[in-house]
Amino acid sequence: MRFARVIVALLLLVGLILVPATDAWGRAGNGGHFSGGGGSFSGGSFSRGGYSSRSGHHGDGAALAWLISFLFHHPIIGIPTLVIVALAFFWYVTEASERRERRVIHRAFDKLDHDYIDTCLDSLQESDPSFDLQQFKQRTETAFRKIQEAWCEQDLALIRAFVSDGVYERFSLQIDEQQEHGFRNVIEDVKILGMAPVEIVASRNDQNAFEVISLRVTAKAKDYRVDRTTGKLIPGSKTNETFVEVWSFLRRRGAQTKPEQAGLIEGSCPNCGESIQINQWDKCDACGSLLRSGEHDWVLSEITQSEVWKPNAGLGLNSATRYWVSHDPGFNTHHLEDRASVIFTRKATADRHGDLSPLRKVAHDMYCDVHGPVLAAAKRTFYTDCGVGAVDVIGVIIDQNLDRALVDVRWSGRRNTKAGDKLETSREPSTLRTLMVLGRKHGVQTKIEKSVSSLQCPGCGAPESEAASNCCEFCNMVLNDGASDWVLVDWLPYSSKEAGDLRKKANEGIETVIASIPTEVRYDEQGRQVYEQASTIVVGQMVGQVSGKDLDRAQVNGHSLREFAKIDDVDLIAWLVQVAAADGKLDEKEQKLLKEVAKNHGVPLSRVQGMLNDARNGTLESPEPDNRASGVKWLTRMIDMALIDGHLDRSEKKLIATTGKRLGMSDYDVARLLAKRKSELYREAKEELKERKKEAAGRKIRDGYGSGE
Ligand SMILES: [Zn+2]
Ligand SMILES: [Zn+2]
Repeated sequence: MRFARVIVALLLLVGLILVPATDAWGRAGNGGHFSGGGGSFSGGSFSRGGYSSRSGHHGDGAALAWLISFLFHHPIIGIPTLVIVALAFFWYVTEASERRERRVIHRAFDKLDHDYIDTCLDSLQESDPSFDLQQFKQRTETAFRKIQEAWCEQDLALIRAFVSDGVYERFSLQIDEQQEHGFRNVIEDVKILGMAPVEIVASRNDQNAFEVISLRVTAKAKDYRVDRTTGKLIPGSKTNETFVEVWSFLRRRGAQTKPEQAGLIEGSCPNCGESIQINQWDKCDACGSLLRSGEHDWVLSEITQSEVWKPNAGLGLNSATRYWVSHDPGFNTHHLEDRASVIFTRKATADRHGDLSPLRKVAHDMYCDVHGPVLAAAKRTFYTDCGVGAVDVIGVIIDQNLDRALVDVRWSGRRNTKAGDKLETSREPSTLRTLMVLGRKHGVQTKIEKSVSSLQCPGCGAPESEAASNCCEFCNMVLNDGASDWVLVDWLPYSSKEAGDLRKKANEGIETVIASIPTEVRYDEQGRQVYEQASTIVVGQMVGQVSGKDLDRAQVNGHSLREFAKIDDVDLIAWLVQVAAADGKLDEKEQKLLKEVAKNHGVPLSRVQGMLNDARNGTLESPEPDNRASGVKWLTRMIDMALIDGHLDRSEKKLIATTGKRLGMSDYDVARLLAKRKSELYREAKEELKERKKEAAGRKIRDGYGSGE
């Protein structure tokens, strides 16, 4: 293979020096008359329409002989030409193999992702044979259109029955903000350009309480604002752009698709088929089943911007796992994350209005007592246009009085500073990270059927009223003491010492976890792939160092460990900005470079500008402590991401080099790291592709047997 490439390269090089030569030559002898070949040079590619396809005046052999004798007799031209040819040749061979290796890496990991999704889809269909991905996509499109409509009408009743509390509350908040400013959004010409599954969590693993499907939706729409009363267009509000979002749906393990029956998205009770009334989104009037329990149908649990989306990590290798096993069998991250989303939006509303009321039912008295005076202060800060990126449960601290769950929230918003009547709003959004501390009385357990619909009164089932009290208006049950569900106890900057201490405390005693690593693949009678299970101890703190192969195979709670090592694009860009700004020497050129790379990663320009502004003011919330050891780890991840996603271009390389320098690495160190990661990933990729080929061949042979019988 390699030899053949060298020959091809040599031939091309001969073409390279011969073509200009014949050109000059031909013009002299023939008046520039050539037949054919002309157009193929336009792309600068010498591989097409080379010398041999042309009918020059002289024969091929004669031309070569003439050239060699010419170079030999004129060494002043000949020697430099030979040197250039040799260098060009060397460059061509290394560059071509470099490009090829990068292509292989990108292709293999792409394939790996696809195969992984396919396997998950298979196992979903194994337990629910009527499930059809195409039909699911159609339903998602229906949901998509209904939500656009509800959004434009500023009336969420239409979608209430199929979205989680977290999604519903966020929409309510945004619509509130719009109404306050006297406008509504109009969205027209919505075109869905693509819909592809990016994650499927099937219930093959018995410990998963929920099945999850996340679809990446690419859509294009015209979007503008009109005055709410006059209906007139607000000038300058028109946009026409493509956006990418990840839509996540969940349902309970064991739920089955009923192909003949309409479901929640279509406005029917998925259990009995009766149509759902407008104000009835908790229980079905006809059969009494809980509509959003996920027991009978999918519920839209989250909409995430593509650039901050990460696969649902489930329960990671942390104290939450321990809590789940030892204290709360219904414990699941979906519930905590949905609850955290609800509380997040309530807090944003409370902050904006300077009024504690929206928080009273979901925040503990000990938080309200502290936060009340903050809201009443003459000068205060709050955020508008809030977008929540990722919400992750990172641990649970067990306490005899109040158990505390730590939730990591990555979000963005425009900073407002209000002093008296004076209000200042930042133009670009800030990127922020908060550790939310939620508390629940020790011994209370999660009601799994209320995982994404926890806002009704647990005492009497009444919907929550807007009154500013901490109890249910119907049965007087106190709702914010943590006796029935998680409530807000504290709100800390992620990088604060307090937050760090809590994180440390949550991880006390967590050293090892047991993960099952399938060691061998074999096939059952039907030719289906089955894994031989073997229990292996994986040290929690060492997850980052487990080799790629083990990472692929090991699973915790049905999730591959590789997912734990993933970071999102916004995180990466924020880290790069942080490193770049650390020494106060961030010039225009480097800012431009950062923006270019951010574009590669799908991070909007305004987000980067916001990060740069915050970095300048010293208010950028850093995704990771700033030290060399963690810096090299991040740089390695950046290189991996660029190689795997296939966008390691000049600007990305340049930024990697600049960042490496800032971390105290020499150009040589950086180049070596790049080469090392490339060759490691290349090896991994090649092995992976080989294995796939072998598997496919094995399948073919077995299928052949099957059809012969
Ligand atoms: Zn029903
Ligand atoms: Zn009640």
